[in-house]
Amino acid sequence: MMLKENLAAVEQRVEAACRRAGRKREEVTLIAVSKTKPAEMIREIMDCGVKDFGENKVQEMCGKMEEITEPLHWHLIGHLQRNKVKYIVNKAYMIHSVDSVRLAQEIQKEAVKHGVTCSVLIEINIGGEETKNGIPKEEAMDLIREVSKFPNVKVKGLMTIAPPVEDPEDARGYFQEMKALFEAVKAERIPGVEMEELSMGMTGDFEVAIEEGATMVRVGTAIFGARQYGTAEQ
Ligand SMILES: *Cc1c(COP(=O)(O)O)cnc(C)c1O
Repeated sequence: MMLKENLAAVEQRVEAACRRAGRKREEVTLIAVSKTKPAEMIREIMDCGVKDFGENKVQEMCGKMEEITEPLHWHLIGHLQRNKVKYIVNKAYMIHSVDSVRLAQEIQKEAVKHGVTCSVLIEINIGGEETKNGIPKEEAMDLIREVSKFPNVKVKGLMTIAPPVEDPEDARGYFQEMKALFEAVKAERIPGVEMEELSMGMTGDFEVAIEEGATMVRVGTAIFGARQYGTAEQ
């Protein structure tokens, strides 16, 4: 697998999308989504200068952090169960998938125990899909107000997984809705909430997401190749 070439191609596409949108390359963080991929592949991408990696399972992320001790930013991008919060609250650079007060409350509790504050994004189910995690956009403001009351949980922005579409252009409307929501929350100036990050865009749609204002794109397949799942995995 030509990982370096894959990464270079993605990087060029990120740069081109930034240029089209009149944005600076530094405004967008490329998160390399390394789920199911071994540590040696992560190292290869790390050696190209990538610092941000995304994992969707707590146990897998913790295992890789033990193997790779360089100071990287590990983003937890998958659904987080409350009973797993204690394993990552002081390890994850950012948790992208907060979608309930109860989960935020658990993060608060464990963050205090570990003497840390934890940066989180609020996950929005922008397509209103039944099978997805995340909250409807109509509920975002109330949830963010509630989460903002937890002193050790810092809301840094929003995250979404857009519905799967054949043509990335068809995701543009969802990304525009996310950007509008992001700006609406920002305008509320909720104390303790710093709206800095808009995490959206994956292999199939990251360029459109950048054009519509993403500050973080989560790219797996285009960098690491297709994933092979066992039967127990989604
Ligand atoms: C797997 C995953 C990605 C990356 O998906 P690709 O299509 O492989 O780029 C991004 N975000 C989340 C939440 C994921 O679970």
